[in-house]
Amino acid sequence: MPNYKLLTPGPLTTTDTVKKEMLFDHCTWDDDYKQITLSIREKLLKLAHVSEPEYTVVLMQGSGTFGVESVLTSVIGENDKLLIAANGAYGERMGDIAEHAGIPYLMYEVEYHQIPSAEKIREILKEHPEITHVSMVHSETTSGILNDIASVAKVVKAAGKTFIVDAMSSFGGVDIPVGELGIDFIISSANKCIQGVPGFSFIICNREKLMESKGKARSLSLDLYDQWETMNKDGKWRFTSPTHVVLAFAQALKEMEEEGGIPARAKRYEENNHLLIQRMAEMGIHPYIGSEHQGPIITTFLYPEHHNFSFQEMYQYIKDRGYAIYPGKVTDADTFRIGNIGEIYKEDIEKLCSIIKEFLEEK
Ligand SMILES: *Cc1c(COP(=O)(O)O)cnc(C)c1O
Repeated sequence: MPNYKLLTPGPLTTTDTVKKEMLFDHCTWDDDYKQITLSIREKLLKLAHVSEPEYTVVLMQGSGTFGVESVLTSVIGENDKLLIAANGAYGERMGDIAEHAGIPYLMYEVEYHQIPSAEKIREILKEHPEITHVSMVHSETTSGILNDIASVAKVVKAAGKTFIVDAMSSFGGVDIPVGELGIDFIISSANKCIQGVPGFSFIICNREKLMESKGKARSLSLDLYDQWETMNKDGKWRFTSPTHVVLAFAQALKEMEEEGGIPARAKRYEENNHLLIQRMAEMGIHPYIGSEHQGPIITTFLYPEHHNFSFQEMYQYIKDRGYAIYPGKVTDADTFRIGNIGEIYKEDIEKLCSIIKEFLEEK
């Protein structure tokens, strides 16, 4: 069997005990199974620091993008308008989604190494009173930058608009006080910081805003309200549920609790990230994002000066020795990326950096 650990931002390396849950073919209609779904939804509310009846959770089949597309195409009405603050590929993807669905939107684009400005968003909202919803990405996995959702939330809430956050690669790995910030829809997926396997996304919704979206969806299978309505009755999924993924996710949540919840996980990720950046700096390899905005999830590194190797060569060398890294995705610089989330510890970071050191010495 091939064996390496993933230093990518999801799917990521999961525990054997999470994978083992998938060996059972669970029946979907009985109470045991529905109970698992209900318990997952309850736990997610807790992780977001919110509770019923103000907030509720929808699980949606598909990868993370399906979750983002479900929210954007379900909650923004025909006469509404969306402002998207983007500084990377995932923010831009929200624009693509809006384009495909014919959702009226305005794009506020920022360079990939900068964060969207709350002040600028305040101005845009003032200039464009027709805007009803604002969306942005929290951890822009494209670059690894961590956007300031707290400052933006303040401005969006003061203006009385609906706030949608793609926290795909941060939820569970960075503590987010969803209720306190007044985030109306926050989206993440099974295969990121909760450390499950890919197969569904989840959306923590302000219940009132979700109720208002009834009948607005542009898609049948991605209809957020309809999905919620079925699931909220007794835990039944509207269409075939990804049973194996759900079982693995329930186990991943349990293991997260055992680790010490979000505080412990966030600490481990941060320590991994700091150690990685420190060790790479010792080899003359530096992050693309300034330390002020570098997030704890994934780091984009600039190649060392005068390097004489390709990404493919480096990737293969590292993979042969037990780790898979990620190509760069920013558009204005030659880079590669290393994620530090998943079942990854300091020992892994030390080992990876010694492999990279060896590679550079051989070059
Ligand atoms: C992973 C990720 C997504 C979803 O990507 P999928 O490939 O559809 O799972 C969306 N936004 C961000 C910021 C991500 O990191």
